[in-house]
Amino acid sequence: MRHIAVVGTGPAGYYSAEAAQKLFGEDVSIDMIDRLPVPYGLIRFGVAPDHQSIKNVARRYEKVALSDNVRFVGNLTIGEDISIDELTDLYDAVILATGAPEDRALPIPGADLSGVLGSAAFVGWYNGHPDHSEVDPPLDGTHVVVIGNGNVALDVARILSKTSDEFSGSDIVLHAYEQLETANTEHVALLGRRGPHQIAMTPKELGELGRLERAAPRVDPNDLPEEGADALLEPGMRKSVTFLREFAAIPESFRVDKSVEIEFDFFAAPVRIEGDGKVEQVVVERTELDADLRSQGTGETYTIPASMVVTCIGYQTPPIEGVPFEHGRGRFANDEGRIMPGLYCVGWAKRGPTGTIGTNRPDGYAVVDLIAEDIGEGAGKTGRAGLDALLAERNVDVVTFRDWKKIEEAEADRAREGSPREKFIEIEEMIAARSR
Ligand code: NAP
Repeated sequence: MRHIAVVGTGPAGYYSAEAAQKLFGEDVSIDMIDRLPVPYGLIRFGVAPDHQSIKNVARRYEKVALSDNVRFVGNLTIGEDISIDELTDLYDAVILATGAPEDRALPIPGADLSGVLGSAAFVGWYNGHPDHSEVDPPLDGTHVVVIGNGNVALDVARILSKTSDEFSGSDIVLHAYEQLETANTEHVALLGRRGPHQIAMTPKELGELGRLERAAPRVDPNDLPEEGADALLEPGMRKSVTFLREFAAIPESFRVDKSVEIEFDFFAAPVRIEGDGKVEQVVVERTELDADLRSQGTGETYTIPASMVVTCIGYQTPPIEGVPFEHGRGRFANDEGRIMPGLYCVGWAKRGPTGTIGTNRPDGYAVVDLIAEDIGEGAGKTGRAGLDALLAERNVDVVTFRDWKKIEEAEADRAREGSPREKFIEIEEMIAARSR
């Protein structure tokens, strides 16, 4: 029997478990460990609440979770309840699938002012992540600056711009729903330090900005390259740029009824955030591209008002004591997924925060192939039984998948009309819901 522990129960974790089941059949036992009492990581806490169809992939993970040789062990924190060394002693292979839940820091003066939030905090707030339940975004102001030109920046701009009706069918948590309902947002500036051909936005997500009830996107036609240059782009990117061209052609008459403007500010690098105790404005430097398509400051600066700033410039993996880490790239140091004997990583913890949910599938299958090469039939470790003995000794109260199903049912029962669930936000509430 092979014993595998997967740390992290988001997409990368479940695809790895699925791959191990497929490859090893009944000759494997897999424990899926999460520090939270609820599974699915990014699906629950990262995917936007108004993108429910993307969240449906959790059904596939549930199939894996419900099979006999896979077990969910929630509410168990590595480094507190059990160490990595202890885990690697118990299991033939430990896979770190811990994602990249922390914000990459924006290295400019003023980034620590009140009212400047990282996307992990802002997204975590509207998605009900227990780590971010205390976030209090200043939504009373009119001007929000969103830094970055990726899909997370799009999510943030869209969530800030939707009407309450447009959240129908979503699982946005109540505190965010209510605060956004009374927000005064009139202008969302999307700052990109490079140009329209360098965005990291996918067409489906970008196209949504053009179909909002009370908001309209604005693109300055002067920022767009010659139309012929689009032919050199790969098809997805070309489609995205086509949306930007459509946004640039929106007539003023269309904007009359719109109370929110989402303005793309290209070739614009933030250099300083200013304010008296809290954010008031962002100083931006005009940029141009060098021969390698990197942004270079031109020396010309201007100021834009900001009652709130959300940085959407990428994420990083939190280091774990004793596990080699690549600080520059914010991920575990690894060779194609191997960290050290018995210890592996997968998904964003391996690659850094790029790619879609589906990108984690081949990643999960690849790491299991490595494990198969390395561990053979298994080394007679104690695995699950050993973990249970250790946790009993330490009085650690773990949450099982059956417990999760009760939590899930309770969340569905208390959902607002039209919403699939009202998430519990505090860990204690989640744990209490399992014994109802
Ligand atoms: P991302 O795609 O890497 O985009 C980060 C953006 O931040 C880039 O535009 C980057 O510009 C900019 N940036 C980085 N450092 C900066 C700085 N110091 N100053 C100004 N701008 C800076 O990251 P993300 O948006 O966080 O998304 C993470 C991953 O999740 C992506 O793979 C994304 O596609 C995926 N995702 C997918 C969906 C979806 O499919 N619906 C939704 C959300 C997220 P440069 O290009 O110039 O570096």
